[in-house]
Amino acid sequence: MARHTWPVLPADNAPFALKHNGDMNFSEISGQEHMKAPLRRAVHDGRLAHAILLLGKSGQGLLPMGLALAGYILCENRSESDACGHCNACRKIEKHIHPDQHFTFPVVKKEKQKDPPLSSDWMEEWRQALNEDALMSYNDWLQRLNAANKQGNITARECQEIVRKLNMKSFEAGSKVLLVWKAELLKKEGNRLLKIIEEPPEDTYIILMAEDESELLNTILSRTQVYRLQPLSDEDILQHLVGKEGMDEGRARELAYLSEGDLARALRLASESESGMGDAFRQWMLMIARSDWAALLDWINEIAAKGREWQKYFIRYGLHFFEEALKAGMSREYKARIVPGYEKLSNFLNEKMDLEAYENAVRLLEDLHYHIERNAYFKVQLLNASLRLRDVIIERKRIRPEALIR
Ligand SMILES: [Zn+2]
Repeated sequence: MARHTWPVLPADNAPFALKHNGDMNFSEISGQEHMKAPLRRAVHDGRLAHAILLLGKSGQGLLPMGLALAGYILCENRSESDACGHCNACRKIEKHIHPDQHFTFPVVKKEKQKDPPLSSDWMEEWRQALNEDALMSYNDWLQRLNAANKQGNITARECQEIVRKLNMKSFEAGSKVLLVWKAELLKKEGNRLLKIIEEPPEDTYIILMAEDESELLNTILSRTQVYRLQPLSDEDILQHLVGKEGMDEGRARELAYLSEGDLARALRLASESESGMGDAFRQWMLMIARSDWAALLDWINEIAAKGREWQKYFIRYGLHFFEEALKAGMSREYKARIVPGYEKLSNFLNEKMDLEAYENAVRLLEDLHYHIERNAYFKVQLLNASLRLRDVIIERKRIRPEALIR
């Protein structure tokens, strides 16, 4: 396993992270030339399969690839390499409002909703997500729905809706395209789509996007033409970071190396290092270990002055650090993932904490996160959590759940 030289970050999101947005054309997608070329040729020659499965990680550009392909199909004036970007269709596609471009993605029920939810219930959030972060992970998306602890779903009702929509005439007298993001969440409901996948109505294209092939129904797999994304090369990521984010080359090269071919990860790492979260967390633990309450009060004022999103992410960073430290104590492989500069803290936490202490610490941070979400008195909560973390980590006190902050 590659040695990381940066703390491994929560996969689940970075609200203020550098975002990968607006890149909905083939030419704007980093790398993946092996896939773009055959897709372009197939569309251009009019022999694209009607049911396509794109497989890859979100951070490799899965969603942008699906969007680029849909746009290329619907463009009224495409070249051999890309959509034109100017025609009537392209202008609508850019805003994700083309009436013949349909989206299905996992959702949760809205508040007080009785019927099983449809993707269209969350269309506004979806469009915003596409504009802001087309490399978002599934967890990023759930956070946007305020559903971080829930499971999203593609419902049976949604599948019926798909069949209904695709059987209608196209609005603009051209092709119809359905994009299904996280197609693995169709689960057994996917069987409802077999017929339409096998024999789609005329001029209708179904583009399924999935990260986990093993979760897909075989009946779906066998009826689609599969295209696989690859991890991006260091060079592709470097080019993106330097060319689009304006990062200096040395730093971009380091991040490219650490990102394991995942552009979303590279952007997250960049944001984290800029935001100083690792340093802040180390400082916090140090003050707690030393019972340096005067310094802690100053520090709390600093943290309280940061935005709520930063604070929430900081707590999640802390949770992730605890988890990584715990794993590092159990296996050499994980130990190698802890970064120079952070091994001491990781070792220290490991010496001090057993599994129960970890659980208590995690519970404390989760409570803190809960209170930030609800805009409670942050400074008081942070001080309270700090004192209790000291009990848990340093004094090795056992805390009964009901004695926790909440
Ligand atoms: Zn066009």
